[in-house]
Amino acid sequence: MAKCPICNSKKGQRQCLKVGGVVCSLCCGITRNAESCLGCTYYQKPKRLYGEVPAYTTQQMDGNQELESYGNVIEGALCTYDIETGEILKDSDAVRVIEALIDLHYFKDYQQSCDSPIIADAVAYVEKAIEDDLQEISNQIIVKILGVIRFVAKRRDKGGRDYWNIIHQYVGLRIGNGIGLMQRF
Ligand SMILES: [Zn+2]
Repeated sequence: MAKCPICNSKKGQRQCLKVGGVVCSLCCGITRNAESCLGCTYYQKPKRLYGEVPAYTTQQMDGNQELESYGNVIEGALCTYDIETGEILKDSDAVRVIEALIDLHYFKDYQQSCDSPIIADAVAYVEKAIEDDLQEISNQIIVKILGVIRFVAKRRDKGGRDYWNIIHQYVGLRIGNGIGLMQRF
């Protein structure tokens, strides 16, 4: 019976990517980390506390035309992508897209492979809008805008498309009123 090559005492049970042999469950749990273990079924990414990422409050956004126009770029791109893909995304998908953008802008390590293609494409689409239209805005502000959008989308999420309906209605209108995003529609 092969012994675990890490502790050299228990029986090895789990094929380990890191040591290239079979390790015991205890050593697996203790030595697991993001660098070596990504892709292993025993490894799970630590849950990120997106709610603790710096964010504007809805009160700070309300009536602040500058901040609202930044939010419109992001939500406008979400709307366009949603229309182009046949309006099949749920509110939870919108939350995930925004969280992936927070991965990108705040945690700096978005892994596209962890998301389904439609989500990963949405992330790329909205990120392109951010690069094109918000290039002069600091990353810190973008993170806080993403934070408030996530908060709003999450609050609306009841398993359906409440958040999507709201942004189609209001962001569409606001952009129609001329904030310079007409070329996207
Ligand atoms: Zn061991």
